[in-house]
Amino acid sequence: MLDSLVKLKRFSLARFSSLFAAALFLQMNDSGFGGASACAGVGCFGMIAFFVIVLAINIAILVWVQKDAKARGMDNPVLWMIVVLLTSWVGLIIYILSRPKGELVVCASCGQKRMQGLAKCPSCGNP
Ligand SMILES: [Zn+2]
Repeated sequence: MLDSLVKLKRFSLARFSSLFAAALFLQMNDSGFGGASACAGVGCFGMIAFFVIVLAINIAILVWVQKDAKARGMDNPVLWMIVVLLTSWVGLIIYILSRPKGELVVCASCGQKRMQGLAKCPSCGNP
């Protein structure tokens, strides 16, 4: 009677420890491989997508500054582009505050934008 009880106890202990090991393995598997696959899947892709979107917005702002400065007949649109490139949104605010104020209209000669009241079109040179 006592002998069989000891056997049962040993059996259940062995069973418990193997279950514990399996649970531990599953947990390690879950946090280890699961985390890695999440990074390779959604996490890292999300970060790459985020950086690509930020880069695309920055390039769009730089192109807009260059075109806007040219349309307003400013002497150095490329210099303004570099200022915004180096100083980011600070340069963009300085540009918007310091650019010549006025309505942009489409040039009748070349179709590019030019500021109303300019003596000649910055793109084609026509009055
Ligand atoms: Zn023009």
